Amino acid sequence: MVVFKSRQPPIDLPTELTDWDWLFDSSHSPLNKYPPNELAGFQNAVTKERVDWADVKKYSTYIATALVKKYGLKTGETVSLFGQNTVWYPVAMFAGLRVGAKISGASPAYNVEEMTFALKTADSKFLLTTPGSMEVASASAKAAGLPRSNVFLLEGELPGYTTVQELIRIGKSYGENGQTPAFKIPVGKKNKDVCGFLSFSSGTTGLPKAVMISHQNVIAQCLQIQQITPETQKKIMAVLPLFHITGLVHQMHLPILLNAEVIMLPQFTMEGMLNTICEYKLSELLLVPPILIRLVRDSIVDKYDLSHVTRFSSGAAPLSEEIILLLQKKFPNTGFKQGYGMTESCSCITAHPPEKFSYKYANSGGAIVASTEVKIIKPDGTEAGLNEDGEVLARGPQVVMGYLNNPKATAETFDANGFLHTGDQGSIDEENMIHISDRIKELIKVKGIGVAPAELEDLLLGHPKVEDVAVMSVPDEYSGELPKAYIALKPNIEESVAVGKEILAYVKEKKVRYKWLNQVEFIKEIPKSPSGKILRRVLRDKEKAGKFGL
Ligand code: AMP
Repeated sequence: MVVFKSRQPPIDLPTELTDWDWLFDSSHSPLNKYPPNELAGFQNAVTKERVDWADVKKYSTYIATALVKKYGLKTGETVSLFGQNTVWYPVAMFAGLRVGAKISGASPAYNVEEMTFALKTADSKFLLTTPGSMEVASASAKAAGLPRSNVFLLEGELPGYTTVQELIRIGKSYGENGQTPAFKIPVGKKNKDVCGFLSFSSGTTGLPKAVMISHQNVIAQCLQIQQITPETQKKIMAVLPLFHITGLVHQMHLPILLNAEVIMLPQFTMEGMLNTICEYKLSELLLVPPILIRLVRDSIVDKYDLSHVTRFSSGAAPLSEEIILLLQKKFPNTGFKQGYGMTESCSCITAHPPEKFSYKYANSGGAIVASTEVKIIKPDGTEAGLNEDGEVLARGPQVVMGYLNNPKATAETFDANGFLHTGDQGSIDEENMIHISDRIKELIKVKGIGVAPAELEDLLLGHPKVEDVAVMSVPDEYSGELPKAYIALKPNIEESVAVGKEILAYVKEKKVRYKWLNQVEFIKEIPKSPSGKILRRVLRDKEKAGKFGL
């Protein structure tokens, strides 16, 4: 059997601690390692609002107490977070975790329909949001049956809504001895058996599903990444959205373990990000390919002195060789690293270790992280050897519990031996580094965020002029990939530019921006297998060969 094993020393994984206890109450906690005046924290790059780890512990305890004692939150229930990056997002997240709730993050760009789906799928009982997202939040909470009193504001004020500051006051009013105790892993269970987070991913096929991430998954991933993070990493810019697995791990958990200051950008603008990088003299930047593309192409970058940047880090989607070369040319004194993984592996399966932080290794997604095994399965079902391509399978303590209420998808994605089937194609080389060559699964990655073709296909099948449809990804210079719909029209409908525009507008009206179609192509028939499955490979080959185009 060919199994590629990590060459890093195995992690020493606590199996009975909750995520909250581990970060705020154990020997790993920065609160037990550093004097109060040396504690780092979360800070807003624009307003400068800041909470250090001791504040996070204190405030999350008060909020937890208010939610439990006044609003009736129970262990095991879901709390949803929906809004732009703010220092109060992680505080609310840790409040829920403290009492054993499941935390579900949702994209702040979601519309009412999408947010309602997220609330219902995760069976959320509470929702915390920011003022800019309140319109969507309140309408979707209503549609999902959440009372208005269970919708809270993470920051700012709006008439009729309780704020996090108010929750802190309520919690505090119970006195230090009246605080609700921290949730403990039940007797007979381990922290791998208790779900702490529900994140959305479409996995290898179908509609978005709620991924069950255990307390142990997050702890394991933090320890795996800590092991390959230099001690000098003391400031982390949080420009990626907090709801994504990268935000959850690398912007809200890992920094606490590293006692690294998190500089949060509420919203992404190129100018805002560049100003922040310079103001805080940031040296390592964790970014996604679309932002790296702008760094090498956007002329605004030339107005800034970025000589203090010593390393770029990329993840969440493939980065082209062309951009890697341009990056090295424009920033010759920098190093480079990547992480490869997915929501279902709680972020990284592979990542660059410090001795490989160089452009020489930039085309790789990194080396197998500690306590992790990778298998590569060739198309004929046999196991691949070194440098042979096939589907990437991974096993390790960061591989998640499965999909909520979806045993079929869980069984299809996580096999009986504990291996996650990633739906990505790649190989492992002599240095234990991964090379991702293609994607076998349906997923489309727009600016690093996953879009499920099935979701757009479901929507388009509801259009009165559409007989059948397949949605696929096409490459795009800035977004990496964009969705394209191949459409077979109803027999009485003529193909025309007007119908194409009508279909583009239909998706725009119903879906968040990053799911908008880039193109519509009319075809006579969608190629399907005898069992009715869309033959995506046929469409892809035709697209690549340039056989389409009206
Ligand atoms: P998500 O669950 O949104 O994080 O998406 C995970 C998917 O993004 C993976 O299965 C890959 O298809 C893609 N991906 C993530 N990181 C990389 C990377 N470094 N290189 C290539 N593809 C990546």
